[in-house]
Amino acid sequence: MRKPIIVGNWKMNKTCAETIEFIDAIENVVSENDAATYGVGAPFTALKDACAHAKNLIVAAENCHYKDNGAYTGEVSVPMLQELGVTHVIIGHSERRQMFNENDEELNLKAKRLFDAGMTPIFCIGETEAQYDAGETETVIRTQLANGLKDLCPKCVSKMVIAYEPIWAIGTGKSATKEIAQNCCHIVRDQIRVMYGDEAADAVRVQYGGSVKPENIKEYMACEDIDGALIGGASLKVDSFTAIIDATK
Ligand code: PEP
Repeated sequence: MRKPIIVGNWKMNKTCAETIEFIDAIENVVSENDAATYGVGAPFTALKDACAHAKNLIVAAENCHYKDNGAYTGEVSVPMLQELGVTHVIIGHSERRQMFNENDEELNLKAKRLFDAGMTPIFCIGETEAQYDAGETETVIRTQLANGLKDLCPKCVSKMVIAYEPIWAIGTGKSATKEIAQNCCHIVRDQIRVMYGDEAADAVRVQYGGSVKPENIKEYMACEDIDGALIGGASLKVDSFTAIIDATK
């Protein structure tokens, strides 16, 4: 049985004070007995406060470097995050791929470093609108996974989270139909089966992301290969994130 995982991606939003207010409010609606894991991805500056206030929520960083230290101005390493109590790191979000030129080879190094630290990568993949229109979605998904998750141990892969996020659905209000989301998450799982075998494929959790909101979360969660969601806009307000949590209990 895979335990679903629903994570908010705050992007470059929320000060420390706003983070504390949000986490305290959401802690009131989650418990250790929930059937799903809930959490937030917060900016680096808010992670210490997020970790200090989170009890049942998991706290994710939104990026990391694969080196532990050195001349990498502006970067943050895995040991730095681990020291704060961060357990999960979102890597390869399409905004980082598109605006900061992150590629699968670099993401592969990040995933390896996170596994070495016993942390959980939330590895994002997904096609652009042009690739979707050209019928290239499956090739893009399989290629991103083949390169990004190359040479990992199957046990590590079984514990990770993969977020399938069609770029045309991120922040656009244009969510994928449940059929598209299920089909793509099934392709993700199949590619893991090809690379790492049945055990890893049956255990890895695959999230859908792209304009998920209280009104549509249930239909995604009912899909066989969807084990949760990565949520941008609707994770920023206590009301909408609470409604998403309530809808999945
Ligand atoms: C995201 O940022 O990963 C995302 C899915 O955003 P939104 O829910 O706003 O589409």
